[in-house]
Amino acid sequence: MNVRGHTADPRPPADPRPPQDAAAAAFGLTKTYGSGDTAVRALRDVTVHFGRGTFTAVMGPSGSGKSTLMHCLAGLDRPSGGRVFIGERDITALTDRDLTRVRRDRIGFVFQSFNLVPTLTAAQNILLPLELAGRRVEPPRLAHVVDELQIRDRLDHRPSELSGGQQQRVAIARALVTEPDVLFADEPTGALDSRTAATLLNFLRTSCREHGQTVVMVTHDPIAASYADRALLLSDGRLVDELDRPSADTVLDAMRSLAA
Ligand code: ADP
Repeated sequence: MNVRGHTADPRPPADPRPPQDAAAAAFGLTKTYGSGDTAVRALRDVTVHFGRGTFTAVMGPSGSGKSTLMHCLAGLDRPSGGRVFIGERDITALTDRDLTRVRRDRIGFVFQSFNLVPTLTAAQNILLPLELAGRRVEPPRLAHVVDELQIRDRLDHRPSELSGGQQQRVAIARALVTEPDVLFADEPTGALDSRTAATLLNFLRTSCREHGQTVVMVTHDPIAASYADRALLLSDGRLVDELDRPSADTVLDAMRSLAA
């Protein structure tokens, strides 16, 4: 097992720089919630890079720090220590306003619960982030995303008129229409049946391989993780293992050895 120790020097380099091909990177990331006796160390010295065009699954037991890592990488939460880069930009020291802009312009999100606005059509949901940002949609980009996700004939429907899989495809279209540097997905297939989940995971994999999209996906599901190029394993806030080209079996074995 490829256990990554961080005992040699737990401090991040004084002036860390991400590799040129990294869409996102974290150096010596720590996050502590609360203080004193009740402090919870949710992340402990996590250093990791996400190469452009790669699909990474983040796994680990409940409470191991997966969501915290994703939220810190995506600028939704601020780390207690360490640095986060989106592309070559260090987002750790940005003001709230600049951080909001980076999130809006360079990051896409997909959640388990789709988070679509029920009163808007699929098309209006997809365009909402751009409208809120005062940006014009590039028609070819919209057409590309809609066709790739095969939702062209669903654009005039409201979420309640769509299946779960269709709603999640609309949510992915909404996240991708802005051409984000990184798409963060939090249990994106958690509410879908296995066949619909497979279609979606294939789409995510293809968008990485053929269109250079970078995807970071938190999941509990070893089968979902097997679609990724790499699986990261967190335990107790630490990055403890990293599997290249994971299969459901190698992921399960690694999870079991964590529990042992
Ligand atoms: P996971 O996503 O792997 O289930 P989390 O990142 O949600 O793990 O949580 C990691 C640890 O941090 C857990 O012990 C959790 O209880 C704690 N935690 C997460 N968010 C908060 C918060 N807002 N306040 C206090 N503790 C938190």
